[in-house]
Amino acid sequence: MRIGVIGGGISGLTVGALTGQVGHEVIVFEASREWGGCAGKFKRGDYLFPAGATLGMGFERGGIHTRVLERLDEEVDVRLLDEVMQIEFDDQQIVYYQEREKFMDELTNHFPQHRDGIMTFYQEMWRDFETIRPLFERLPALPFRSRQDIIHALKGIRFKHGRILPKLNRPLGKTLRAHGLNDTPFERVIDGILLDSLQTEAKDATHLLAAVALSIYHEGAFYVDGGLFQLAHALERAVTKYRGEAKLGREIRKVERIADGWLLTDRRGRMEIVDTVVSSIPLEGTVKLLGGEVERTFRRQYQRFLHREQWGTFSLYIVLPESVCFGKPLFRQIYHESLSTGHAFISMSDHNDQLRTERPERTITVSTHIDLKEWEGWKDRSVYEKLESEWTERLIQVVKTAYPEWDGSPTLALPGGPGAWVKYTKRPNGAVGGYRQTPNQALFQAASYRTNLPQFFVCGDTVFPGAGTIGAMTSGIHVARALGVKI
Ligand SMILES: Cc1cc2nc3c(=O)[nH]c(=O)nc-3n(C[C@H](O)[C@H](O)[C@H](O)COP(=O)(O)OP(=O)(O)OC[C@H]3O[C@@H](n4cnc5c(N)ncnc54)[C@H](O)[C@@H]3O)c2cc1C
Repeated sequence: MRIGVIGGGISGLTVGALTGQVGHEVIVFEASREWGGCAGKFKRGDYLFPAGATLGMGFERGGIHTRVLERLDEEVDVRLLDEVMQIEFDDQQIVYYQEREKFMDELTNHFPQHRDGIMTFYQEMWRDFETIRPLFERLPALPFRSRQDIIHALKGIRFKHGRILPKLNRPLGKTLRAHGLNDTPFERVIDGILLDSLQTEAKDATHLLAAVALSIYHEGAFYVDGGLFQLAHALERAVTKYRGEAKLGREIRKVERIADGWLLTDRRGRMEIVDTVVSSIPLEGTVKLLGGEVERTFRRQYQRFLHREQWGTFSLYIVLPESVCFGKPLFRQIYHESLSTGHAFISMSDHNDQLRTERPERTITVSTHIDLKEWEGWKDRSVYEKLESEWTERLIQVVKTAYPEWDGSPTLALPGGPGAWVKYTKRPNGAVGGYRQTPNQALFQAASYRTNLPQFFVCGDTVFPGAGTIGAMTSGIHVARALGVKI
């Protein structure tokens, strides 16, 4: 079977590598000149920056990335972080330890007034994670759209799963209330963590996915030398190793149904005929490639997803001297009132990461969620430039808070607003990270990888299970499974 994969991010490359390994003829089309999409990289002079994703999960033994890499006989060098990140707000500096007991001590020391609530809350979250872990490891595909999906998921069901059924549609707000933690400073900490992983504040997040998100760092969080693009590169190596084609600079503009296959046309009018299409770009991007009855069928199926709100991001890529960075944590969540969600995520290169820079400096990315409604009208250049300079200034203030010894003059500072995400990763309207994982949008309410079109699949962070490189890879695995890969 000849498979055309649209998009060379983590999800698309996962499908390309896994299906190539079982003998399919694969061709992956990537619009940009870099692999990895939101988990890609870019270079400016002597400096290398991760474009989006920086913190690696799923690289532990049995983790999703490890499982796929081992299967493909590929490797990525990662370093386990004992201290995952530092959360900084109201003069508090909370260390997010990988070890559960240490993290619990840290939290209860910071919030002694909520000690009992925090302990019982985490006991419940971690217990629920342990309950669903065997199911989670089978990587079920929701919502069920085929007998194969149901049989695969049912094989992971255990009697004890009955206990978590009532929590299927529960928002985390209810759980926080039950432990006396709603509207507390502790809830703000959870807000920050869940906004980064589930794209929503704690009170609205799905309880079960929050249980996964609040357990996953304890499974292992990793620093990847150079950046997470190494995962994309490993997958791309596998695509070509199994005699697939991986093409950069090939933006697909049109997908048409022909006889019993599909015709893909790129930006320059070059055409390819394939038996099966896998679109690994956001659903809002996929629909724009279609026309006629094919588009109507796709819209009918995904209508409610195409209108779901998503966050944008504003990032600042900055180089600071070693002298102000030494001893600072590699990953930090900083609360700052000037930001839409109140917090930003800072990722700094390690001092001996020669891939990021060989100079006595660090390359740093600071990113924060932005409400794209505030950016309405940004396609007008003057509106964009005004917003860009306002947001750059806000993030500069965040950097000043995070690096108080810094004199305010960076070697290099590059802003990355929604326009940059459209230009470099083709994210429609600059929306990133997938949909908010709330009870009415997640799990059984998520978008399926199976379309109603023949031999046409979708994956990526707008499809179940959602955002993050783990989520993107998982959706790619679902598609690969439907194409005959036993995983
Ligand atoms: C700022 C930021 C920080 C993040 N931090 C983390 C983190 O620390 N850890 C983590 O796990 N996750 C993180 N994420 C999330 C993670 O990066 C993404 O969820 C994941 O990489 C998405 O992968 P994907 O394959 O679904 O899509 P994408 O990464 O969007 O890949 C799609 C690819 O398709 C290409 N493309 C689009 N249209 C076409 C077309 N018509 N033809 C050909 N190619 C096309 C794009 O150029 C892109 O390369 C972060 C995301 C952002 C934005």
